[in-house]
Amino acid sequence: MWLPDPALVVLVGASGSGKSTWARARFRAAEIVSSDELRGIAGSGPNDLDASADAFALLERIVDARLGRRLTTVVDTLGFDPALRARWREVARAAGLPAVAVVMATAPVVCKRRNSDRDRPVPAPVLAGQLKRAAQVAAELAAEGWDSVVEVTSAEAVPEAPAAVAPESRPTGLEVVLQVSRFPWGEDPAGWLRGIAMAADDAGFAGIALMDHLIQIPQVGRAWEPIPEPWVTLGLLAGLDTRLKLGTLVSPVTFRPPGITAKAVATLSALSGGRAFLGIGAGWWEREHQAFGLPFPPAAERLDALAAAIETIRALTAKGTKPYASARVSLPETTCYPRGDVPIIVGGGGERRTLRIAAELADGCNFPSDLATVDRKVEILRRHCADVGRDPAEVTVTVLDLPVIGEDRDDTWARVEKLRGRTPAATFAARHHAGTVDDHRARYAELAERGVRTVFLSLPDLSGAEDVSRLAALCQWR
Ligand code: GDP
Ligand code: MG
Repeated sequence: MWLPDPALVVLVGASGSGKSTWARARFRAAEIVSSDELRGIAGSGPNDLDASADAFALLERIVDARLGRRLTTVVDTLGFDPALRARWREVARAAGLPAVAVVMATAPVVCKRRNSDRDRPVPAPVLAGQLKRAAQVAAELAAEGWDSVVEVTSAEAVPEAPAAVAPESRPTGLEVVLQVSRFPWGEDPAGWLRGIAMAADDAGFAGIALMDHLIQIPQVGRAWEPIPEPWVTLGLLAGLDTRLKLGTLVSPVTFRPPGITAKAVATLSALSGGRAFLGIGAGWWEREHQAFGLPFPPAAERLDALAAAIETIRALTAKGTKPYASARVSLPETTCYPRGDVPIIVGGGGERRTLRIAAELADGCNFPSDLATVDRKVEILRRHCADVGRDPAEVTVTVLDLPVIGEDRDDTWARVEKLRGRTPAATFAARHHAGTVDDHRARYAELAERGVRTVFLSLPDLSGAEDVSRLAALCQWR
């Protein structure tokens, strides 16, 4: 059963129908607001009916507070009061969250048996009244305007095994490349890098991409954290016994003259047996340029430089030594040994010029990984390809994905809480698709269906090889 997330989830069912058990199997304790538990907090215990008014007042406060923050909220009460249901739905609507009713379709005899097995059963006439209400409520729900009404039959009431994608239904050809953007390597930089690379190779990653910055960027870490020169670092990785593709994502064109980049990637290609690739972009962070004494021209000039750089690198790494001349680039000869033809992936957000450059000159482009953005950019790329007369199939669509990946729902949200800084938790979780490996696998299958061929996966909380090893299930798409 699939439920939207975040969402308001309202449970509906008599005592003993299994509401609390169902909720506990799927949600974190903090996501479940239960009238029984609040009776135990405001009163002497879950059965302290004298505390009902206080418990329900608290319940309403908690529902408002959580939904207002766009946090998933599961309301565990009988769910029989249409006025309360309407209020919760309105609060969810106001927060922009979907509202789902979950009806426990448990047979009355089962509820009665479970009730009598309890330490403090609900009095039989009370339960009989609840079961009568339960029989009416389905019709009410259908008329109330829920985003969905889900019926839980007893077969579903036991926790489902995680929905692994069956091998035959897997999209073929999706590659997952580990992008490394943080380097918490302690006292042993080379050992840490080796550990990451060996773990990535074992887990089934298709390659490693290194971020290329001169100062650690604020989106990832602090300015004094290490951020190594990527081509030197890739040289070390090339010397390891792996099958990993190796490259940058992405190198700002402003850092190195394009001929020097051509020399670096051609060398890496030779040293790695043809496993090198180059991610390249216009550059965006003025501070690192100033700090390192590099010019940082306006965006239009940087984009001109990007197009010229790709042409230059292609000319120098292609076969032969003949002169090269185009509207942008003129080289009297193209003598570059060792040489190696490397895939070039253009990164960057610009849809008018950056994507045009990718359509005209590159082997691939790189987008953010949310589905709406991918759909939009694939369409724009397709139009640019049509304009310049290029077959869109020649431009590989890749995405940069920055997932928060937890062992389970609790661990996922603990990671969100640790990483989010001042960003609201729901916003951060959505931006980083916070979930388990299975959640991300389902998302990658979706990306593959939309034409994505490579996912560059970058862990915002990468600390060492163990973090890489546990992602094997995300890498196998044969
Ligand atoms: P609630 O009153 O609707 O919240 O029901 P509970 O979730 O507290 O469940 C009542 C009793 O039924 C508990 O003893 C549960 O362990 C048991 N129970 C709930 N769901 C299931 C189920 O799917 N299968 C079985 N065998 N027992 C269940
Ligand atoms: Mg309960």
